[in-house]
Formats: sequence, C-alpha cells, structure tokens
Amino acid sequence: MRVAIVGGGINGVMSAWALRRRGHEVALFERGVLMGATSAASSKLLHGGLRYLEQGDVRQVYEGLHERRWWMQRAPMLTRRVELFLPLYSHAPHGRLALAAGLTAYDLLAGRARLGRHGWWSRGRMPERASGLKPDGLRGAFSYWDAQMDDAALGRWAADRARDDGVVIHENTDVLQIARDGELRTTHDASRFDVIVNVAGPWARALLDASGIASHTQLDLVRGSHLVVNRAIEAGFALNLPSDGRLVFALPHHGRTLVGTTEVRQTLDEPIACSVAEREYLLDAYNTFFVNGIGEADIETTFAGVRPLVDSGKSAHAQRRGETIEVEGRVVSVFGGKWTTSRLLGERVAATVGRLKESS
Ligand SMILES: Cc1cc2nc3c(=O)[nH]c(=O)nc-3n(C[C@H](O)[C@H](O)[C@H](O)COP(=O)(O)OP(=O)(O)OC[C@H]3O[C@@H](n4cnc5c(N)ncnc54)[C@H](O)[C@@H]3O)c2cc1C
Repeated sequence: MRVAIVGGGINGVMSAWALRRRGHEVALFERGVLMGATSAASSKLLHGGLRYLEQGDVRQVYEGLHERRWWMQRAPMLTRRVELFLPLYSHAPHGRLALAAGLTAYDLLAGRARLGRHGWWSRGRMPERASGLKPDGLRGAFSYWDAQMDDAALGRWAADRARDDGVVIHENTDVLQIARDGELRTTHDASRFDVIVNVAGPWARALLDASGIASHTQLDLVRGSHLVVNRAIEAGFALNLPSDGRLVFALPHHGRTLVGTTEVRQTLDEPIACSVAEREYLLDAYNTFFVNGIGEADIETTFAGVRPLVDSGKSAHAQRRGETIEVEGRVVSVFGGKWTTSRLLGERVAATVGRLKESS
C-alpha cells in the first residue's frame, strides 16, 4: 500500500520504519526538520517511568523498561546507563517501605532488561556521587538505574535507518489538509494515498480539525520545560517535591545539570518556551534539595516541549502516557505516547494499517 506519514518526530519516524519493513511504500512529511519539536525537548530518559507505578500503569512501565533495552542494544553510542538517587526526607510524601516496594517492582518488571539493582543508602553511608543534599531531615536515599539518550541524535539515527530501508522523507513540507479518502494536500502539491497516518504529536488533533475529520479524542497539551545549569554531577537525582508531590529530575547532561520538568497547560497559539514562572519553579525545586543553591546566573539555556496527552479529565500529572490510535476512513490518527516506547507505537500503527489492508 502507499502510506503517507504526517509528522517527523520519533513516533512518525518509528511508524514509517515499521510500515516500510512490512513492505509498504512509505512517504513521510515533516513541516520543519526531523526531530524539530517535542522529540528533541524530552528529559532524555529511556525509562519505564517509576512514577507511573503509583498510577497503577504497570503496562506502561513494563513496556518502557523493555523498550529501553531495545534502544540501548541498537544504539549504544547514543545511550547510556545512569544511576539515579531518590532522597528520602522526613517530610516526604512516600515512606521508605512504599518506595522500596515501588523500586522492587521496577526491578522485577525489567526482568533480564534490568540495568542494575536498586539500593538503600542511609544518611551516614551516602556515596560521594550522591553528596550535596541538604542534611535537615534527610534519612537516606534509594538508588536505582535507568538510561539516558541524546534524543535528537537518536531520533535522527532511527530516521537514517528508515531512509536506508526505503522510507522517502520530505522535510519543510507542511501538510495543510488530509481527507478520509486518502487525499493529502501539502504546501507543494496534492496526492492520494491508500492510508494516511496522522502522527503529528501535539498538532494531530489540529490537523484533523483543519481537515474537517471528526475525532473522539481530546488532547491535553501540557508544556514541560527544562533548565541546563552550570553544575557538573556524576549521578542523577529524582526529587520528590514537598510542595506539590511532583517528581523533578536533576540529571547529568554534557558536563552540566539538566533540571526538569514542569507541567503547564497551553494552547498551540502560545510560544513553546520556558516561562519566567517555570524558571523560578525549577530553581526552587533544585534549591529545596541541594546545599549549593543555583540562581538565574547559573542557567545556561532552557528548552521546552508540549506533551500531547490523551485527555481523560484528570490533572496533567495524573493523565496516562500511553497512546490512542483512531481510524476514520483511510486516516489513522495517533495521539499521545512516550519517546521510549515509540518503536512499539510504530508496530501498533503498522498492525492497524495491516488490518485496513485486509478489510479493503
Ligand atoms: C518536557 C517533556 C519531557 C519528556 N521526557 C520524556 C522522557 O524523558 N522519556 C520519554 O520516553 N518520553 C518523554 N517525553 C515524551 C516524548 O518526548 C513525546 O511523547 C514524543 O517525543 C512525542 O513524539 P511525536 O513524534 O508524537 O511528536 P513530535 O516530536 O512533536 O513530532 C510531531 C511532528 O509533527 C510535525 N507536524 C505537525 N503538524 C504537521 C503538519 N501539518 N504537516 C507536517 N508536519 C507536521 C511537527 O513539526 C513535529 O515535528 C517528554 C515530553 C515532554 C514534553
């Protein structure tokens, strides 16, 4: 079948690649450059997402942990294991037992894909790489293992593999409209496809609206910002904020520290950029935990992205991260999804297109 993919983020690329491997003729249209939006503005973690266990989303965690291994095995030069410390203070929202249970489950769900066993370090025994935490009320810290990636480079690596296998990629090509019968109109021309896969991330619903195609799915657009600050750290930290119970990461990042992220609802008309309030929030989060505080002058750069979360009527923090796939005529739309699990998302898109082929 002739398949068009709209969107050159990681989900578009992995969908295109999966479809091509199943023998379809695939063209991908990206209005900017590949990995130019959300997929290069992530926290750069390949992970199961410890906090999704709290929401009972065991499947999301299981898939993330196993997909993490897939990326690490395929692209070791763009991925690496990272140790994270989760400090436990007397004011923490979760007790030691609850955290130990969560981390044990995290290790067990990873099975053979586990990168290392979690551990507990009492305050007097904390290793040098976990130093710098404020001592007041500190009981100790858990350590656990996840992985970091260079999201933009890893996404381009995947796009190169897809291109090598025969996916045709058109950058700087805005898709203006799509139709249920497979017609796709770009800034350059119009053509007809057997299937169109709308995987435009935060813009997926807007493209349907502009095309007059109905959808049951509402997207909850939630901006997340990061600071890059001029501190070198060896290990990462998962910081459970006492003020709102959110988890903020401080991660090693090219000899600097990446601090993120935030959750701010936004519309597509607003600029996707870190606001003054978010800068303050992240500086405060860091300074709540570390003795050597940081200020505005320590921020080297900031970046932001918009999570396309499938709206279930919950708070931004509690919305599930999994994807929803919707079919309307010859248009397959994909909403949501995580970077880590984009390969699985691509497989599911290819299976959906396969079913369309059988029924046509
Ligand atoms: C702050 C933040 C932190 C995150 N951290 C992590 C993490 O650590 N680990 C993890 O696994 N996940 C993380 N995620 C989630 C992950 O980054 C996203 O789920 C994923 O990148 C979404 O990819 P996508 O391809 O769907 O969207 P995008 O990367 O946004 O790609 C969509 C593309 O479609 C293009 N497009 C839109 N409309 C059109 C059109 N009409 N015509 C042509 N092209 C169009 C856009 O230009 C864009 O390039 C994070 C997300 C955010 C926001």
